[in-house]
Amino acid sequence: MSEKKAVFFCSASSDIDPKYNQAAREAVRAACLAGYSIVSGGSFRGTMGVVCDTARECGAPNCGVLPEFMKGLEYDGLTELRWAGSMSERKDMMREGVSLAVALPGGIGTMDELFETMVLVKLGRMKATLAVLDVDGFYEPLRALLDHFVEHGMLTPEDRALLHFAATPEELEKLF
Ligand code: AMP
Repeated sequence: MSEKKAVFFCSASSDIDPKYNQAAREAVRAACLAGYSIVSGGSFRGTMGVVCDTARECGAPNCGVLPEFMKGLEYDGLTELRWAGSMSERKDMMREGVSLAVALPGGIGTMDELFETMVLVKLGRMKATLAVLDVDGFYEPLRALLDHFVEHGMLTPEDRALLHFAATPEELEKLF
């Protein structure tokens, strides 16, 4: 049986409300319990560190992918550490073999990873369930933006529906 892999895109910032990291912990724990191996940006920074801590505590395979220019920022305790030549290559490597891609609350790096992945799914270049963890409505502006795109014909309702909004880790679990 092939390994089930989930990638988590998330914040590199430590200066965020702890509720986002708590939700991240619950979501990653649920994924580990459901048998997913975990892939992330692999840094000890911000929510990425929380994702790696949680996967390690759960004893799940825990792969981190970093660009070479981030040497020194890697999380100590990954079961697999992979180095990429560039940020673009990193995104490709993070997506390799995943059947689930989740954006936890994050900023522009997280959006870059999520949108590129959504485009690839939309174009049929990869197959994965896509979701955001919409902790306390964090991603409501994104929902409004996507609805705006649909309203103006820039995005089809079918493609819009590729991205699930899970309000809680329990809701996210229903997509596993
Ligand atoms: P952001 O959402 O802007 O905090 O960016 C976080 C995402 O982009 C992570 O999933 C990382 O893959 C990547 N990233 C951006 N900035 C960093 C950083 N300083 N250290 C490690 N990864 C980063």
